[in-house]
Amino acid sequence: MKIIRYVSPEGKINYGSEEPNGSRLRIEGDIFDGFSATKEPARVMKLLAPVAPVAMWCIGQNYRQHAEEVGFTVPDFPVVFAKGVNALQSPGGPVLLPANRYSKEVDYEGELVVIIGKACKNVPRDRALDYVAGYTCGNDVSARDWQLKWGGTQWCRGKSFDTFAPLGPYLVTSDSLPDPTGLRIQTLLNGMMMQDGKTSDMIFDVPTLIEFLSRGTTLLPGTAIFTGTPQGVGMARKPPRWLAEGDEISVEIEKIGRLTNHVCREGR
Ligand code: ZN
Repeated sequence: MKIIRYVSPEGKINYGSEEPNGSRLRIEGDIFDGFSATKEPARVMKLLAPVAPVAMWCIGQNYRQHAEEVGFTVPDFPVVFAKGVNALQSPGGPVLLPANRYSKEVDYEGELVVIIGKACKNVPRDRALDYVAGYTCGNDVSARDWQLKWGGTQWCRGKSFDTFAPLGPYLVTSDSLPDPTGLRIQTLLNGMMMQDGKTSDMIFDVPTLIEFLSRGTTLLPGTAIFTGTPQGVGMARKPPRWLAEGDEISVEIEKIGRLTNHVCREGR
């Protein structure tokens, strides 16, 4: 099932399903606590990210060739950081280049994002996928200057500006996508392919990430896990290719969908 979240003409936030024929039906109930599809058309005024995450955990350097391109050695454990939930952006919404705390080095990272469906803690790898609600496309937008130079060694400042976490357009439920490995993941900038990888190239796969993140730590329903980005980020290009006003950036994952956003300058 492909789940969307949207604003209705009455201003209500609803969930819906996108059917194979392209029609959209309203969903009754909470997607984390029992829901059913109705026969009623979903009246979509504005598409939102398919969930509003309660937390966003992210994994750095999780594709071997990406770790190499940015000059890091392959880590022994997953490299974990957080993004603020304020950074959430809808499909089609702008990625805003920050005007205050100015950045000249805003970059894209196309990623498979796991959404946790049931609270879990200390989950063994072989049962980890039982707690997954589904998968969506994400862009871990990163201001590299704030991430790497001015962030006091912490990455979260440069990763948490408003609009730096576009998600969507669909949550593809884990019953229709039982295995998230082997999916092609691509990032297109103004239609040009910048990243082209496979989720099977992850150093730590999705079950391993859930096992690791849930050690001594409750993963609440609605937690988003950004699973890392393949090679081809803007900072590793010669010369670097930073996001600029007017760019169109898309993340496409096989069997999930395509997430597209435009780049604007904050305050314009
Ligand atoms: Zn990332």
